[in-house]
Amino acid sequence: MTLSSAAGVYRNGDYVVIERHSHRFPARCFWCNRTLAGSPVETATPAANVPLPRLPVCKPCHTQRLRRPRLALAVGMAAWIGAALLFIWLDEITGSSNSMVPAIFASMLVIIGLTAAVIAFELRVTAAGYSPVHVDEQYVWVAGAHREFLGALPDWSGMTLKELQQARR
Ligand SMILES: [Zn+2]
Repeated sequence: MTLSSAAGVYRNGDYVVIERHSHRFPARCFWCNRTLAGSPVETATPAANVPLPRLPVCKPCHTQRLRRPRLALAVGMAAWIGAALLFIWLDEITGSSNSMVPAIFASMLVIIGLTAAVIAFELRVTAAGYSPVHVDEQYVWVAGAHREFLGALPDWSGMTLKELQQARR
């Protein structure tokens, strides 16, 4: 395996240390170490105010991480369709019945639909990104890389995460 193309990416124990503003990843999936043919599927980082490196990720890993949010979205849409059908049905029977039960059910379905959509959105954000263990002006520490992905990286020669955290106190 040649990693001559990689730069600014290092191994520090179980972590990958990435130089934030100057890095080039090996053409391997961060999560499973599969060779990335052609252009890699990249994942961005959510919920951070600073621009963070994008990790190279293969299509299967990417798809797998998006499965849960899609399921939540499907539940939300099913609830909305159910609510719409209930409202239509309610409209048709109005006049003959003053029962509030269908309206309450339909409202509940709308709430379930909204909740599922919010959950789907949250999951989507999480699935599309990663949570750095540590971020400073120059470097990002990321956990969870595949063993072989880690193993192929050059050793980090700077301060370890532990030392950095101790220096902070
Ligand atoms: Zn992968």
